Amino acid sequence: MERKDRMLGAAAVAAALLLMFLMDVCSAARGYVPADGAGWNVRICADGEVWGIWPLDQDREVGVRTEDGWNKVCIRDGSVYMEEADCPDGYCVRQGHIQSGLDTIVCLPHKLVVEIVDRGDGQQEEGADVIAR
Ligand SMILES: [Zn+2]
Repeated sequence: MERKDRMLGAAAVAAALLLMFLMDVCSAARGYVPADGAGWNVRICADGEVWGIWPLDQDREVGVRTEDGWNKVCIRDGSVYMEEADCPDGYCVRQGHIQSGLDTIVCLPHKLVVEIVDRGDGQQEEGADVIAR
């Protein structure tokens, strides 16, 4: 019994570390910003790479298929949510809508991160990233 508890704890730590790693890799890819569209952008990162960035104020649906699975992200009425996903836990869909800065939807099984980012922030972080290299 005790051994099983320890293994569960280790799995939780591993999941948390993976999440931190993904967010960090995703941040390193900042700077991929469209030429127009002030204010908030929606950025989707899959497996540590920027899948795309779209303005938050334009409704659209984005399908993301990776080798890990399928996600459908909806941008509607200034908010973002995961409409569909075939991940085993379904947690990303249950996270609901996000609509302001620094909010994030994460699909851990698919290594997918949906973030709302500010153009200005993205540019600043790009500068910091260059120094870090
Ligand atoms: Zn998911």
